[in-house]
Amino acid sequence: MNITTPIEWTDTTWNPVRGCTKVSEGCDNCYAEAIDNRWNGPGSFATVRLVRKALDAPLRWREPRMVFVNSMGDLFHDAVPDAFVIEVFTRMWWAPRHTFQVLTKRHARMAALLPRIEERLRGLEADLALVDAPTTLTWPLPNVWLGVSVETQRWADIRIPALVRTPAAVRFLSVEPLLGPVDLSRWLGVEWMESFQGWGAKRHWRPWLLASPADRGGPGTGVGWVIAGGESGRGARPPHPHWLRTLRDQCQAAGVPFFFKQWGQWTPNLAGRGRQVDVLGDGRTLPPSASPSAGAPEGSVRMRRAISKHDAGRELDGRVWDQLPARVVTHG
Ligand code: SF4
Repeated sequence: MNITTPIEWTDTTWNPVRGCTKVSEGCDNCYAEAIDNRWNGPGSFATVRLVRKALDAPLRWREPRMVFVNSMGDLFHDAVPDAFVIEVFTRMWWAPRHTFQVLTKRHARMAALLPRIEERLRGLEADLALVDAPTTLTWPLPNVWLGVSVETQRWADIRIPALVRTPAAVRFLSVEPLLGPVDLSRWLGVEWMESFQGWGAKRHWRPWLLASPADRGGPGTGVGWVIAGGESGRGARPPHPHWLRTLRDQCQAAGVPFFFKQWGQWTPNLAGRGRQVDVLGDGRTLPPSASPSAGAPEGSVRMRRAISKHDAGRELDGRVWDQLPARVVTHG
């Protein structure tokens, strides 16, 4: 993994679109905006640019790769014409050896446009057959995974229903930056309930798995992959570790691969330099209590602002979670 990108869950990025505008609180500290404005001048990111010369790049990559489509923008932004999105999907069709991971916050446009994309690609398939250059189309494209970003329960409830209506070989979630507790149970095919157990300092959240229906996530149904992580960079908001643990536990209960990308800027590992805060279950932060005897607020976890995301690390409860869905790799 990671041929040309530091993003842990892919090998490389492909950016036929650059630039974007913000749609929700997960965008507040957009890393792509910071990079683009540094390279191209303040404000450049707000102009969406179509990078035609990048369109054919995947056709030239010989070895199979996992390709994150548009790390520097959003393919389904309103400023990207339908015809250009279709061109991107055409390249993904013609590069079956790669696995393309298309991630968006524009769930509605993605869901609305997919039938049109299929129609256009089927037309192209027929045209190619006429000129004796047949290229078989399997729909949905087996090498294209479609995902939405989810930062809070509110956005889960809005974006995931559109995603699960959208045909895709694998549907996935990027739950990053995680800004609150998120219950995915209805899309993962598990029933999930929690209750606050114990007394005094020993009080803790305890998950209860009530059932595990047969209709689980996975290729072709529901949600087949979950990536989660905290925020990095200036202004990063600390996640409560409990939010990440429950996401992992929901995925494990459902048999859905879970990928813990990063703690980000904040870590529960206090053995290092950096400011500390107490993170409450609802995401609010407080300075550590002045008197150790006063203890931390109930349900809170003390977190340290790390020097970098590498300092914060990627372990959750003592292990790295790098689970991936099965890939379909065809040499074309
Ligand atoms: S949708 Fe993605 S690329 Fe666009 S502003 Fe938000 S975080 Fe940045």
